[in-house]
Amino acid sequence: MSTTATDVNKSNANASGTEWDPIFDEVGLPKDPSNIYTQTVASMLQAAEIVNLRHRVRIILAQPKNEIMVHFPVRMDDGHHKLFKGYRVQHNNAVGPYKGGLRFHPDVHLDDVKSLAFLMTMKCALVRVPFGGGKGGVNCNPRELSIGELERVSRRFTAAIANDIGPDYDIPAPDVGTNSQIMAWIADTYGALSGRHGPADPFAVVTGKPIAVGGSLGREKATGQGVVDVLREMLPDLDIPIEDMRVSLLGFGNVGSWAAKILSDLGANVVAVMDHTGSIRNTEGLDVYALADHVAQNGGVAGFEKKTGTGGGSGRHCGEGCDVITEDEFWETPVDVFIPAALEGMVDEKRAKQLHCRVVAEAANAPTTPEGDAVLASRGIEVIPDMLCNAGGVTVSYFEWVQNRSNVTWDVEQVDRELNRIMCMAARRTIVAKQKYDTNMRTAAYIAAVEHLGDIYNHRGIWP
Ligand code: NAD
Repeated sequence: MSTTATDVNKSNANASGTEWDPIFDEVGLPKDPSNIYTQTVASMLQAAEIVNLRHRVRIILAQPKNEIMVHFPVRMDDGHHKLFKGYRVQHNNAVGPYKGGLRFHPDVHLDDVKSLAFLMTMKCALVRVPFGGGKGGVNCNPRELSIGELERVSRRFTAAIANDIGPDYDIPAPDVGTNSQIMAWIADTYGALSGRHGPADPFAVVTGKPIAVGGSLGREKATGQGVVDVLREMLPDLDIPIEDMRVSLLGFGNVGSWAAKILSDLGANVVAVMDHTGSIRNTEGLDVYALADHVAQNGGVAGFEKKTGTGGGSGRHCGEGCDVITEDEFWETPVDVFIPAALEGMVDEKRAKQLHCRVVAEAANAPTTPEGDAVLASRGIEVIPDMLCNAGGVTVSYFEWVQNRSNVTWDVEQVDRELNRIMCMAARRTIVAKQKYDTNMRTAAYIAAVEHLGDIYNHRGIWP
């Protein structure tokens, strides 16, 4: 007999909480509700309980297979050497090679990386691309490194983990603070180290590469495009037309800026943006193309208010310029859809109470805390969960890897068409689970993912 979501909420695991799934003790996980890895595992176990996932699969998924931590010295521009700490967590490879981004950020820590690796396992299972989950990063501030220092950090980190990655084993990609140039340095370093008897195409060791060295058309915009594909699939059910809908964005990097540009092309009205440099608003609509150019040149949205006459092109909503607003004003801006596209944990209880929206589309990974989630649920705000919403990136990474391995190139129309097909199917899969188990969208996405993983383990068994 299957258990309902309500039964589980009353009697079992709870991320902010008082009652813990016994598996936390069994696998030795800390019962700390503020720990991000604990939060993600608790969400998975809740879904596992609903679908009666086998105990052996629950304990396998509750801990990563491998946690790799390295320290490596890098020569800085002034001649002294600095020691950096890097991580690669390989959560699960039952479906295929470990797959997931590399983050260069001063707040990179083991539990964040574990939780992001875990989410990659769930995300790949949900969209049914044949990859497992991994994630990595280097504890550094790329904004404070010169281009030469950034290259040496990237190459030394690659050398440190070269025996633990590979086109058939673990395939990194860009994430916060990394980009296609860094992927090119990693591919080049790995290619040189893998030697002439190495894999046929060592550059397939990473995705998100520049087009000139084996990148895929459509990869740079893929995560933002996937966010829009999911919104287009889901919003009609919520009776929100994309044309003229009002949007605010937290984060205007790769994911946020592409989502904004594609939404704007479809007629949506991006009215407010906040990033690490400030918050801006124009209730008539921001010129997001001009804003993306400004961010590329200046590193953030701050200063965009000084630009005048940034009026937009055809089909786009754009007022003249914009106002600088406070953080509170940003969170309270009335919109139809709020898109967090920055870091984890930014939609907490306080911010969830301030939001004035109907839908939260989680473009970032783990942007909402369990407390924030509870507030959004109590206010009837629909949350489209990260593992569905931002899966466009890994999906086109998969297309890039397929092209590299088979020596073909796809045109951008083929990439966009296949991406749309996969995102729409994943969205439908989530909606079906939501209806079947009478639960919220996040638990439904976990259910669709763990059912697939459970099925794979049932067929494969566990050996030796
Ligand atoms: P990015 O580095 O290009 O952009 C990050 C954005 O977050 C920037 O606009 C930055 O200003 C903003 N930000 C950072 N700290 C902030 C703060 N304290 N307050 C407000 N804004 C802040 O990174 P990205 O690649 O766009 O990734 C954004 C999110 O999307 C991350 O959670 C990442 O894991 C997730 N994601 C990225 C991809 C991808 O393909 N790049 C794929 C899936 C998920």
